[in-house]
Amino acid sequence: MTAHLPRGNGKPRVGIFGLTGCAGDQLQILNCEDQLLRLADAVAIVDWEMTTSDNDRNCRLDIAFVEGVVATVHDLERLKKIRARTSFLVAIGTCAVWGGLPAMRNLIPRDLLDRERDAATARFLDTAEALPATHFVPFDLELPGCPIEREEFLTTVNSLLFGTVPELPAIPVCLECKTAENGCRVIHHQEVCCGAMTRGGCGARCPSHGVACAGCRGPVEEPNYDANITMFAGRGISWVEISARMKHFSAPAWMRVGLEGVKGHES
Ligand code: SF4
Ligand code: SF4
Repeated sequence: MTAHLPRGNGKPRVGIFGLTGCAGDQLQILNCEDQLLRLADAVAIVDWEMTTSDNDRNCRLDIAFVEGVVATVHDLERLKKIRARTSFLVAIGTCAVWGGLPAMRNLIPRDLLDRERDAATARFLDTAEALPATHFVPFDLELPGCPIEREEFLTTVNSLLFGTVPELPAIPVCLECKTAENGCRVIHHQEVCCGAMTRGGCGARCPSHGVACAGCRGPVEEPNYDANITMFAGRGISWVEISARMKHFSAPAWMRVGLEGVKGHES
């Protein structure tokens, strides 16, 4: 795949934006440290609220990075405007790509949340169901991660500057975990590890440090949630533990496949 970035006389114009989220992916970009200077040299970052109030909010953008979910009417208006002015749009972070942790709130009935909000006299909040930015407008590339991997971000920018689009890992975390020769958290520790359902690219960071994968990079292609949930239960892991882990980064899937299994078991 190639990226056709319309280039003027100068550097490609870049915007970086955050919708509803924790700004962790933008911080990861700032954490690029010495590479940040090279980045600033290669592109013109013309709209990035996190770093300056002197932004060009209306110019055409060659590349834009968008973090976060759409959780308010205002988010959606901003996202549509960003899409309209951008040639190559990249979703950064699991919130923007899959919904991430903010999507956990969709497990709570909307009318209950509305009642709580009104009780807190926060009627001015135009909140809605939390959905990934990719649900609303077409994106040209998606970088998952909570937060994104700095190397993946830099590789992406580099590739786009050369007119190509990077190949991102499509393997599950489990494969990276096996390659690292870790003992399996499910088999040896009876923990709810989401590695088999989760897209790799982090080098199985958590199991390599003795912690089960929480699934922060979002689902691998064709994840088998049913088989994994059945396997966890078959290894004697309680529905309370399974449910607690699956409700985090796998909340949308848990709403689809897990709730049926948990009925009558959760206490
Ligand atoms: S510890 Fe987790 S990521 Fe590693 S092999 Fe087991 S299930 Fe897969
Ligand atoms: S091991 Fe799982 S939870 Fe940990 S960084 Fe990788 S994808 Fe995220």
